[in-house]
Amino acid sequence: EGTATIIDGKMTAAAIRKEIATELAELKAKTSKVPGLAVVLVGNRKDSETYVRSKKKSCAEVGIESFGTELSDQATEEEILKVVADYNANPAVNGILVQLPLPKGINEQRVLDAISLEKDVDGFSPENIGQLAMRGRTPRFVPCTPKGCIELLERYNVPIAGKNAVVVGRSNIVGLPAALLLQNRDATVTIVHSRTKDAQKICADADIVIAALGKAEFMTGDWIKPGAAVIDVGINAVDDKTSPKGYKLVGDVNYKEASAKANWITPVPGGVGPMTICMLLKNTLEGFKQQNGL
Ligand code: NDP
Repeated sequence: EGTATIIDGKMTAAAIRKEIATELAELKAKTSKVPGLAVVLVGNRKDSETYVRSKKKSCAEVGIESFGTELSDQATEEEILKVVADYNANPAVNGILVQLPLPKGINEQRVLDAISLEKDVDGFSPENIGQLAMRGRTPRFVPCTPKGCIELLERYNVPIAGKNAVVVGRSNIVGLPAALLLQNRDATVTIVHSRTKDAQKICADADIVIAALGKAEFMTGDWIKPGAAVIDVGINAVDDKTSPKGYKLVGDVNYKEASAKANWITPVPGGVGPMTICMLLKNTLEGFKQQNGL
């Protein structure tokens, strides 16, 4: 039987939202202003609509004003760029987020590059990632999902410095920035990807594993070192006839097997997921402070 501490992302995110709400109220009393977040949604993907809805709801909960623009999947690149430009120019908007993926035919990179660096609360700009990678530099914003992973490790007092950390996945939005953040905290970091030889062996030597490969329950118990900390970023829908929806969400890690070996583990759902939106709120608050010299 597993004795792993379950890292509760839902509870942690709720605690952080409270901290954000408190700080925001103080700043509001001082400045008579509140932070604003603009979310741009193009097309009608159900998952994107759900994410955007819950981002707006979370903003309301902590007192961030949310701005939203929804464009049809027929929108042109120029129309999207115009929306971004308007938010760039709007002083009530401190953060701008374009929900990905954008419809086919739209140059995603061009749209993201149009977001002003001061308002890039997703932290995806090359400038920002460069600052994250370089010693002695401070990025304006740390990408939300990896930031949430580190926040969970820190709030659960998982030692990072000097530890072997393995990040499975090297995407721009999760794997790469997660690896940089761990390295910044003095872990010895290995990045594993689809071309890695002996990925399982490498992971089995890790004190900290961040799994972000996008394959349902791919990492079985033999990938996990006894006593490790396991942060499972994956969100995968798998068929489940017993659920009314007909599916359930699972991570990239086989939770049952891994929790029997790990010392700390995040569940899916209820682990990294709730932290991501929470870090978006935090980044928006940070943007507000930066832009108002607070
Ligand atoms: P990507 O598909 O962009 O990246 C997946 C990465 O995993 C790639 O680097 C790929 O390697 C690597 N990979 C794929 N298969 C293997 C394998 N068999 N062994 C080792 N590495 C492998 O995904 P994302 O980074 O965007 O997302 C990863 C997961 O996290 C998804 O399940 C996604 O749904 C979830 N997610 C969750 C969020 C949250 O809030 N909790 C937010 C964002 C994502 P290569 O580079 O060689 O192709």
